[in-house]
Amino acid sequence: MPLRSDWSQRTCSLARGLDVLGDPWGMLVLREVFFGNGRFDAMKSRLGAADSVLSKRLQDLVDAGLLTRRPYDDGGRTRQEYVLTDKGEDALPVLNAVAIWSEKHLPAPSEQAHMYVVHTGCGARTTSADTCTGCGERLTVRNTSWHSPVRTPRPVPLAAAAPAPAIHPNGPAA
Ligand SMILES: [Zn+2]
Repeated sequence: MPLRSDWSQRTCSLARGLDVLGDPWGMLVLREVFFGNGRFDAMKSRLGAADSVLSKRLQDLVDAGLLTRRPYDDGGRTRQEYVLTDKGEDALPVLNAVAIWSEKHLPAPSEQAHMYVVHTGCGARTTSADTCTGCGERLTVRNTSWHSPVRTPRPVPLAAAAPAPAIHPNGPAA
């Protein structure tokens, strides 16, 4: 049973967008993939989500065209990891905006419980979701880092859109 009604045919583009981007678990799955953490077990451990919850969101995000699967070699066994498509990368300002808004308006439960959006070009911690407030450059997945102090001591550069597959599921690509 779906969690809620299908909003994909709503007349308002915000409602249609929320049909894809309005689910908290889905957004946290995207956060992990933006962090470059696209392997199921690693995501599961970071999110503390049940297998079924994670599998459903991954499939929804693949179906919606934001993520794609890429095979990788896990000690001789081929497994699938999730990477962003161009459409998924375009959601970066949405995640940036939620983090920036939260930093501005919501209390943090601890000293370390923050997430900052950093423009790697100039090092500024930006307070705008799509443009660096330090230097004015447009933020992309290639020039943006996120800094979550509970996660890493330094900002982490984001994962770029799906590069060429590391290995091909059916042997070498033609
Ligand atoms: Zn900047």
